[in-house]
Amino acid sequence: MTAPFGAPPSGAKAHYDYLIVGAGFAGSILAERLASQTGARILLIDRRPHIGGNAYDELNADGILYHKYGPHIFHTNSDQVVDYLSQFTEWRPYEHRVLAVVRGQQVPIPINRTTLNALFGLDLKTDDDAADYLASRAEPVDDIQTSEDVVVNAVGRELYELFFQGYTRKQWGLDPSELDKSVTARIPTRTNTDDRYFTDTFQAMPRDGYTAMFKRMLDNPLIEVRTGVDYRDIREQVDADHLVYSGPIDEYFDFRFGKLPYRSLKFDHQTLDEVSHQPVGTVNYPAPDVPYTRISEYKHLTGQDAPVTTITYEYPSAEGDPYYPIPRAENQALFKRYEALADATPGVTFVGRLATYRYYNMDQIVGQALATFRRMQEKAETAVEAA
Ligand SMILES: Cc1cc2nc3c(=O)[nH]c(=O)nc-3n(C[C@H](O)[C@H](O)[C@H](O)COP(=O)(O)OP(=O)(O)OC[C@H]3O[C@@H](n4cnc5c(N)ncnc54)[C@H](O)[C@@H]3O)c2cc1C
Repeated sequence: MTAPFGAPPSGAKAHYDYLIVGAGFAGSILAERLASQTGARILLIDRRPHIGGNAYDELNADGILYHKYGPHIFHTNSDQVVDYLSQFTEWRPYEHRVLAVVRGQQVPIPINRTTLNALFGLDLKTDDDAADYLASRAEPVDDIQTSEDVVVNAVGRELYELFFQGYTRKQWGLDPSELDKSVTARIPTRTNTDDRYFTDTFQAMPRDGYTAMFKRMLDNPLIEVRTGVDYRDIREQVDADHLVYSGPIDEYFDFRFGKLPYRSLKFDHQTLDEVSHQPVGTVNYPAPDVPYTRISEYKHLTGQDAPVTTITYEYPSAEGDPYYPIPRAENQALFKRYEALADATPGVTFVGRLATYRYYNMDQIVGQALATFRRMQEKAETAVEAA
């Protein structure tokens, strides 16, 4: 017989108030809040061999801090999120910039006035000049339904093909005409020369990296962390009053209605014998004949000083870890069926990007986890009052 999970040598079964599945932002924040604010005893597990979820970073063999699951840049407009995370990290100011290789030039993306001037040999001087120019190229679409419609409507077919069509086909394995309009709604165009990728009020990286931040978050004797442990293998063995689940929702229900479709990525991390490889943190390659979508160089993000540099190529893939929910109406409908099951499952709290089948940035997951904790507390208080 298998020994009870977390059993002390006496053989008695350890009791936990909460079993938390997934040590990414969602699971780790709930572990931290529940332990520090309510004194709950937590078992936090992750099937990967480390904490931090997709934000995990580590020093590679060459001593460079890199992000195992692709570059993670922190940005937010929420003071609450910054205040919360600042308990566990100092920050290094960092504004991300991205260039796209188009017609042999490296030009800013999102498309801005500099992009237009460089690409078309123009001399647009003001926001109005750029807005007029974009308007002159736009090809109005009456009923905007797809990603293609959004972009063609805003900037016309030539810019659409140069910047969006090839990139999107690679990223999603689908043509923009097959994708929901919400996908490209995330990529604005600008008429000024602001070349920052994000415009949020707070843009910074955890000074010592994400993993160091997670370690501080979980440094509480009430939190027991076990990595390399899959929920499916131990669910019968753990004695816990409540489950917090931040893994894939379809997997929790044994794919009862079928698999929720995801797009994945393969990361090719390389250390190069040069101080610097590219002028900015990320360079995008929208051309359809280049197999990867982008190259990122971590020293821009971390400010690390070293004689070598580490870069990551991203190759989109249909197979592999679930990274991006594929935004199509039928997939949302499938998720809604799982969500209804989740709502009808007592004793389990579903939280995080995989349990809610949406692409969220890190700050949004921090906000979601803090809100989930507040709701759990309110529910517990109501239950005490009713008793
Ligand atoms: C390539 C890429 C780049 C990104 N870049 C950015 C960025 O620049 N800025 C930004 O703000 N956001 C970025 N994000 C989004 C960011 O990764 C997420 O917002 C964040 O990781 C969500 O945290 P989470 O806890 O919900 O999920 P995760 O970090 O995925 O954590 C969930 C954890 O649950 C574990 N798990 C799942 N099932 C089980 C199981 N059965 N048993 C045990 N453990 C299990 C998984 O191993 C995983 O570690 C990026 C995402 C990707 C894919």
